[in-house]
Amino acid sequence: MKLSEVYKKYNTQAKCLKKLEVLRWGKTVKCPYCESKSTRPTKSEAGRHSCKTCKRSFTVMVGTIFEHSALPLPKWFELATLMLNAKGGMNAMELKRNVKVTYKTAYYVAMRIRIGMLEPDTKLNGIIEMDESYFGGKARKLRAVTDNTPSLAKVDLKRGRGTHKISVVGMVQRKGKVRTKVVEKLTKRNLLSMLKRYAKKDNSLLMTDCFRSYKTLEQYIDRLVINHSKAYSKGITHINTIEGYWSFVKNGIRGNFKSISKKYLPFYLIEYEWKYNHRNFKGNQLENFLKNALKHEKELEYWKAQSTQQVKEIAYD
Ligand SMILES: [Zn+2]
Repeated sequence: MKLSEVYKKYNTQAKCLKKLEVLRWGKTVKCPYCESKSTRPTKSEAGRHSCKTCKRSFTVMVGTIFEHSALPLPKWFELATLMLNAKGGMNAMELKRNVKVTYKTAYYVAMRIRIGMLEPDTKLNGIIEMDESYFGGKARKLRAVTDNTPSLAKVDLKRGRGTHKISVVGMVQRKGKVRTKVVEKLTKRNLLSMLKRYAKKDNSLLMTDCFRSYKTLEQYIDRLVINHSKAYSKGITHINTIEGYWSFVKNGIRGNFKSISKKYLPFYLIEYEWKYNHRNFKGNQLENFLKNALKHEKELEYWKAQSTQQVKEIAYD
């Protein structure tokens, strides 16, 4: 959706509230506190309802990323649209300039929008590529030139160990979705638990490189290994899709954000996942996003202002 359309269609708080209500509840308003459908609109404020069962009053924003925000919803919709339309991401400074809010507001709302991009777990299947990548910290030197090992093999051996980089594990289904996770320690156990969470066991085939810890995954799933010291691909055996994904994320971060701390990296990973997973979506992007953001209301209730705890639980190991 173009920003100009958002200006026209969602230019008042009431219009935005109505949109959110339809997306969250359909035709029947449901109390977010006790789930009763016995409610009535109040006269005090547009979009405020009162529950006949628990006697509390609420708007559609209760328990969502929009709760307790002083920023009018039309601004939220504009910010979300800008973020959805920016292929590689957009930093808070640019958001601020485009929407005319303070830097702090832009930054804070952008973080919440990222939370709204978190999709419920779905299981990947078919051919799944799994790989890890390292974010942040100083670029490590490759020692390949100083000894006789082939350069590609040397990259494999180094694996970012002993550096201060943050390790992120990614899994992508070819022609499908991607899931990534900050994994503090690349232990066999952590890799296996991620695989079990995001991959279907039956009729799936896993592709990895020859990093030792992936061997253990064979107890759960069939696996083919590409040895990068010999070739980048061998027939269908390769991990080019996930490597392409890492480039997409790293170029996006490099081009748009100065640096991202370990604490906030999971938020950005969620945003890039969303961008990649909806790259072929032809419908209304804003509506699609809003629907997702409102969907898991229960979890979102805990995601109070600036709290990173829940994202950590989901995106970290
Ligand atoms: Zn109620």
